[in-house]
Amino acid sequence: MNSFTEENYLKTIFNLSEKTGEVSVNELSKALDIKMPTVTSMLKKLASKGYLKYTAYRPVELTTSGKKEALLVIRKHRLTEMFLVDKMGFGWEEVHEVAEQIEHIHSPKFFNKMDEMLDYPTVDPHGSPIPDRDGKIQLKNYRTLNSFQEGDKIKILAVTNSDDGFLKYLNSKNLNLGAKLEILEIEEFDKSMNVKFKNNILTLSNKAADKILVEKI
Ligand SMILES: [Zn+2]
Repeated sequence: MNSFTEENYLKTIFNLSEKTGEVSVNELSKALDIKMPTVTSMLKKLASKGYLKYTAYRPVELTTSGKKEALLVIRKHRLTEMFLVDKMGFGWEEVHEVAEQIEHIHSPKFFNKMDEMLDYPTVDPHGSPIPDRDGKIQLKNYRTLNSFQEGDKIKILAVTNSDDGFLKYLNSKNLNLGAKLEILEIEEFDKSMNVKFKNNILTLSNKAADKILVEKI
């Protein structure tokens, strides 16, 4: 069985590798907020368990079994978030920190029951795919809102960032998954955009539009 810390390393390496392809020890150290020598010794330990390949000065690479372990933790995290929203009435901005704790419970029965009670959801409250019980995940190729043009009509499918400040920002504009928008105007200067949502016109910063994943409708 892996420790809480080991699970967090595997999860963080997986998430970073999704974003950038390669994960350096330095990058990992920053993401975990743990000093390099400590990170290095944990990487050696995880390598000895067969979860990753580690060579000094080289990017860290998860093995197939390391990836699976990471995805099983992510499954528990995302199922928990869904459960908190769907069954317990939490807002989508309130669930991440709780899920960070619950994801380390080692009881397959607990999470399989949760999955069943939710009727086997495929995405979490932020639109991120939930890996299945074998650790398989269907990655989506959504594009960010700021890659679209004036006149495009789109639907929000996911957000790439689940920190509460960003989600509260979306709440303040009544935006949630499934919202349909029309891009009216993109500001030349800072790429902020005016969008039509229901009968209102909202302004979204480029920074926000970069974290919103959408599809054209
Ligand atoms: Zn989360």
